[in-house]
Amino acid sequence: MKKDVRQINLLPENLPNRWYNIIPDLPEPLPAPKGDMTAMGKTMIKECLSQEFSRENWIEIPEELQETYQQIGRPRPIFRAANLERFLDTPAELYYKAEGLFSPTGSHKINTAVAQAYYAKRQGFERLVTETGAGQWGTALSCAARITGLEATVYWVRAVYKWKEARRDFMKLYGAEVFASPSKNTETGRKLLKEDSEHPGSLAIAISEGMEDALSDDKAAYVLGSVLNHVLLHQTIIGLECRKQLEAIDRYPDIVVSCIGGGSNFGGIALPFLGDVLKEGKKTRFVAAQTEAAPNLQGEYRYDNADYSGITPRLKMYTLGHQKDMPPVYGDGLRYHGCSPILSLLRNKGYIDTVAYPIDEKYVFEAARIFLSREGFLPAPESAYSIAAAIDEAKECKESGETKIILFNVSGHGFMDMEGYRQVLQI
Ligand SMILES: *Cc1c(COP(=O)(O)O)cnc(C)c1O
Repeated sequence: MKKDVRQINLLPENLPNRWYNIIPDLPEPLPAPKGDMTAMGKTMIKECLSQEFSRENWIEIPEELQETYQQIGRPRPIFRAANLERFLDTPAELYYKAEGLFSPTGSHKINTAVAQAYYAKRQGFERLVTETGAGQWGTALSCAARITGLEATVYWVRAVYKWKEARRDFMKLYGAEVFASPSKNTETGRKLLKEDSEHPGSLAIAISEGMEDALSDDKAAYVLGSVLNHVLLHQTIIGLECRKQLEAIDRYPDIVVSCIGGGSNFGGIALPFLGDVLKEGKKTRFVAAQTEAAPNLQGEYRYDNADYSGITPRLKMYTLGHQKDMPPVYGDGLRYHGCSPILSLLRNKGYIDTVAYPIDEKYVFEAARIFLSREGFLPAPESAYSIAAAIDEAKECKESGETKIILFNVSGHGFMDMEGYRQVLQI
């Protein structure tokens, strides 16, 4: 490779046309969910439910959806962070996938949102209902619903809804109904509002409200943006593109790094390479960057609920406990009690290493500032964790003198998250 290759891209016609399903390649069968599946069965999109348990290694991306992928900026570039390498004086090569840049809503979440909207529309649904915490998922779903010709309803944790005004207006501009949760719309919400008219809400409460809403309308589907197998499946488009892009310059990653909340962006970039490790004996190392506010991969590996009130079936996953109180952080998308069952199993078998960064977020936001100062792009607060871990790995290469190929995911841009940088870095 010539030293001056800085951007690696694919032509739109070389966009992968199928997703990779790692489930049949896992070292052990994936433990099945436990508990009452009726509510999920009623409100989930059938195709997504079947993908959730599929034993097929490859799942075709419908042609119409491949077109939508082009519409939302896929394929997305990989950049070589050569300025950052020079600054760190590391022998490692640093490559990053830019998921925020050409995404209409600023993050990777749109990759599964458009897939779920496509299948919902095909099944005859007219409305998509969901919850959101940090707001990235709610925005992605609002966009996907709109461009697919569906309605969207978003239950947004009131504590966050109140201060993220721009993002709220962004969702509304897409035509979504956005409710601060708890809301007057549902039995759950009305009950809580009676106790406290300014109830701050929680992701768990928002899930209950969304489920209740979708259950009361047979034209509405309830959708989720992370954790579940079919969500990670859709996100493998990220890693499949990366593998082709690196192949084009004769590279293969020694280390793959990304941040983890529920696991969708990490799974997205890592699963195709993890498949290579399982099937071909590749030696790639995988590093998950987390916050000490929610280091779910350091929790217990057991069955637990995905929501606070226990409406959803229980999943075998690394969890901090579904009623765990987690301190607020600006990288709010990483603040979830449990991690995807697929990634949890792989972590349990020793395939995924993890690091958790301090709650004050100074270390990760300083890493984001270093990245911005050398490469120019402002990452989402969540992506700052991925950058910090990639920089740490590059520094270790400097110590050991090893020329490793490090691939990391920048899952979103930070254009709507300046508040966090302002507070933490005192700018
Ligand atoms: C939601 C989000 C995350 C964390 O969620 P995962 O499901 O673990 O990927 C990370 N980065 C961004 C930009 C997000 O919006």
